[in-house]
Amino acid sequence: MMHHDSTRALAYAKARRAARDWVDIYRPVGKLYPAVCRECHATEWKGRWSWDAPLPDLPRVLCPACERIRDGAAAHVLELTGRCRGWWDEVRGLIGNVERAEKEQHPLERVMTLQVEGDRVLVPTTGMHIARRIAAAIVRRFRHDVRLTFGERFTRIEWV
Ligand SMILES: [Zn+2]
Repeated sequence: MMHHDSTRALAYAKARRAARDWVDIYRPVGKLYPAVCRECHATEWKGRWSWDAPLPDLPRVLCPACERIRDGAAAHVLELTGRCRGWWDEVRGLIGNVERAEKEQHPLERVMTLQVEGDRVLVPTTGMHIARRIAAAIVRRFRHDVRLTFGERFTRIEWV
């Protein structure tokens, strides 16, 4: 049991580091300008995106999140497997709640279209941090009924 818990703690610590060090390759570096996303209307100012009302006549661009959605290029994918289908309504509600809160604060952190494939559900996200917050919310709710596996591009949550 001790061994299992410390293995889990190490995996969590490693995943936390990976999230902290994550660099969004869709985020332009060095060409910052005030701009507004023509798709979602988020506004950019000095590299930060917000939902502030845009100033008139800002250049219209595609924000990194909308760009990822257009390309189908998830930053991270949560994979829900095992006996999660029985909990699906609750899990879906939980994902929705985290997304609303996260997106409000951080316009580039969004959930893309959910993919249901047999007994697993894929939850692609446009950011690393929202994926971690959803995983944390699921673990808070289901505790020892789920097993987590962290990968570089995915997090698997298995209901056991
Ligand atoms: Zn956008």
